[in-house]
Amino acid sequence: MNETRSQDRPGRVGQVKEITSLANPIVKDIKALSQKKTRDETGTFLAEGLKLVLDAAELGWRLRYLIYSKAAKGKPQVETLAARTVAHGGMVLEVSEKVMSSITRKDNPQMVSGVFDQRWTMLADVRLGADETWVALDRVRDPGNLGTIIRTADAAGASGVMLIGDSTDPFAMETVRATMGSIFALPLVKASVSEFLAWKEKAGVSLVATHLEGAVDYRRVDYKSRPVVLLMGNEQSGLPPELASRADRLARIPQAGLADSLNLAIATGVMLFEARRHLLTLTESAKETGR
Ligand code: SAM
Repeated sequence: MNETRSQDRPGRVGQVKEITSLANPIVKDIKALSQKKTRDETGTFLAEGLKLVLDAAELGWRLRYLIYSKAAKGKPQVETLAARTVAHGGMVLEVSEKVMSSITRKDNPQMVSGVFDQRWTMLADVRLGADETWVALDRVRDPGNLGTIIRTADAAGASGVMLIGDSTDPFAMETVRATMGSIFALPLVKASVSEFLAWKEKAGVSLVATHLEGAVDYRRVDYKSRPVVLLMGNEQSGLPPELASRADRLARIPQAGLADSLNLAIATGVMLFEARRHLLTLTESAKETGR
């Protein structure tokens, strides 16, 4: 009883399943998305939260599974998502809170989650127009850093993020959480060092690398003449010479105090907002308040 039974609902017969058992095979498959191996094999990932799932659907991302807990049943936005999921051949799962907790590995889980297909952009397809900025990360290791960088790049109006070398998975649950939905807004590219350097030669971009031994103050770099790729180093070892030596500028953020360096995500945020300073303005309504 209650294992995986279809609900007789108009228009969605056979595609809405009610699940209360942790032993259900679909639940096991979705839980396995916490492992990179399964994400790689299936090419999918899990994202949590109604707003995030709505934003993704709005941006044209198709849901393989829409998962909602019983408490969300009947909410108009959830119903719309469910109808859209079914229309695109996905499956709708109505689950108990216990099952939702287990899928999201949280005690107080969100009421809605979704399983989406991963999207990667080919490096060869990346062409930067005037005023565009990309972030390139050398062997980023920390999922929280990567998620924060994707979120910050989106907020600064950057066009995408490149992952160079052996990097942490942007589609890991912790990273997706930290992006706060920006994972759906920015294209992601992965490339080896040699692929990246070969692309750079032809791309007509200014490669601004950041380095603790950089000779140029990051506020004195020209970010306007050509599209910019901001190159950031690995958390532990910084940029290797093979990348640093190919940069057009080696920029440094001056520091005071005891800290040797800035956290990677913070340094990326500082660079992004400086590189795009001339392109970012307050909205009219914010200006009107005068404060
Ligand atoms: N021990 C590493 C090193 O020697 O480079 C520290 C790496 S730091 C935590 C991670 C990355 O953030 C650096 O490779 C660089 O890209 C950037 N970064 C951090 N602080 C910076 C600064 N003051 N100026 C320029 N880049 C900085």
